Amino acid sequence: MLLSKYLLPTLKEIPREVEIPSHQLMIRSGIMRQLASGIYEWLPLGLRVVHKVEDIVREEMNLIGGQEVSLPAMQPRELWEESGRWDFYGKELIRLKDRNKRDFCLGPTHEEVITDLVRGEVRSYKELPLLLYQFQTKFRDEIRPRFGVIRAREFYMKDAYSFDATDKNAETSYNNVFGAYCKIFQRCGLKFRSVEAQTGAIGGTFSHEFMVIAEAGEEIMVSCKCGYAANLEKAECLPPPKTERKRSGLKKLEEVETKDMKTVGEVGKFLKEKPDKFIKTLVYKIDSECVIVMIRGDHEVNESKVKSYLGVNEIFLADEKTIEEVTGAPLGFAGPVGLKVKCKLLADYSVEGIVNGITGANKKDYHLRNVNMSRDFEVDKVLDLRKVKEGDACPKCGKRLEFSRGIEVGHTFKLGTKYSEALRATFLDKQGKEKYFVMGCYGIGVSRIVAAAIEQSHDQHGIIWPLPIAPFQVLILPVNYEHEKTRAISDRIYEQLESAGQEVLMDDRDERAGVKFKDADLIGIPIRVTVGEKTLAKNMVELKLRGEKEVREIQPDQVQKLITELMKEKED
Ligand code: ATP
Ligand code: MG
Repeated sequence: MLLSKYLLPTLKEIPREVEIPSHQLMIRSGIMRQLASGIYEWLPLGLRVVHKVEDIVREEMNLIGGQEVSLPAMQPRELWEESGRWDFYGKELIRLKDRNKRDFCLGPTHEEVITDLVRGEVRSYKELPLLLYQFQTKFRDEIRPRFGVIRAREFYMKDAYSFDATDKNAETSYNNVFGAYCKIFQRCGLKFRSVEAQTGAIGGTFSHEFMVIAEAGEEIMVSCKCGYAANLEKAECLPPPKTERKRSGLKKLEEVETKDMKTVGEVGKFLKEKPDKFIKTLVYKIDSECVIVMIRGDHEVNESKVKSYLGVNEIFLADEKTIEEVTGAPLGFAGPVGLKVKCKLLADYSVEGIVNGITGANKKDYHLRNVNMSRDFEVDKVLDLRKVKEGDACPKCGKRLEFSRGIEVGHTFKLGTKYSEALRATFLDKQGKEKYFVMGCYGIGVSRIVAAAIEQSHDQHGIIWPLPIAPFQVLILPVNYEHEKTRAISDRIYEQLESAGQEVLMDDRDERAGVKFKDADLIGIPIRVTVGEKTLAKNMVELKLRGEKEVREIQPDQVQKLITELMKEKED
């Protein structure tokens, strides 16, 4: 490919409102452009990378017996009502009406459609196991689209679905896909790890996430030397050892005036008490009902655990008006004693251990002292609702947990019969009995991988592509293409590499050398061949790897041979 004819609009300036390096570099290197918030156009250079990733994924999925299909993005409401997700999926689901006012959505994922296909076409256990996959644009109206294609509203995913006759076989399918995913991420040149995850809106019995290790990652991975690894949402907290509460140690409940003091910090300073004496009381709104969640003052609520316990997909902190209705006081004075409206009360394990605690009095400008669970208020359930903290005890072995950051690039779920039951998708087993398919579903964020790879591999000058997913393997940089000998040698190397099957980009533009070198570093092609008058005088050209400092001088007719060897080395 000749750069003078290629649509590669590189930018010198750092685009505005761009938070992380990969996003900045994807815009600057002409990989993509934004059309609207969370909606992007892929330009030729970027699309080549998408296709590279896609090819790797396809090869590995085929190796484990996957069969590629292509399912519609536009899906009828009725199908989503059958699974119960038309309501459950909430605002992330993009909905639309056709000319006859029939409701549709744009698929954020395809469990409904695939289960519908299989229930219609597969009758017998003899046709199982079945592993179907597709590459497709997915639509999710993310509450906060950001980081470019890392959290987009329209993005490219490979999704796969397995159908098995028994739970045991479904586990085998799960493990096969798990293995293929590890190979895919390795082949893409990514440093990654898998962690236990929650099942969220997709549902199911267990799941793993694949995280690319990166500082700018949105996800926090929690891990222990013993091998335990989970994402922050899933990571469990051990219940604290039960403190003995001596009856005599319980003091009399008393009201204290705390004028204009609303936070744990303000009230704690005034009463000279530490945050761990506080029972933080939060009012959540779930549909039209309120749920009170209590947690020790020095901890934070893990909303995923709340959602998972309540079996809902979305929860919101109540607005000030609702808080007044429920507690009788403005925001900042809520507590579990004397609520005005009866609500479900959930307490984190940490609340159990608080003796003579402090809470809001449900009265403006007042708090309560010496509050004790069971004596002063009852709860519906005590459970693990808090976010783990760095240094907490590992739920498996008790040692200290460590935190690191990552970008989720893949997700595997063992679904069980959740969707087959909801959609009544059955087959006949050996005995001729009707059974529900046991399912698994699996996703890889193809477009997100492109960004994650850059996040993991770049320097201050630009991208450093891992060879297997690089848009081109070689960049030929004639310092001055107008110079006759430079042009002749560059053209010859270009032709030799092309006929050897290498993917080559040649910067034949009439640009200053400085501009060409800057762009070369920015777009990050792994191997650069520089053809300049000075070295040509010695009958030499320069070869440099993007990720390394060293520049080698070689004879022009050795270039193709050396590059073939280098590529082989990198592949092994
Ligand atoms: P997240 O927690 O990041 O929202 P998810 O759990 O909703 O992800 P899945 O439903 O498991 O994601 O989707 C499978 C894969 O699709 C994810 O592992 C991720 O790589 C990718 N993906 C999900 N949401 C987005 C998005 N908004 N933009 C780009 N890629 C996404
Ligand atoms: Mg999501």
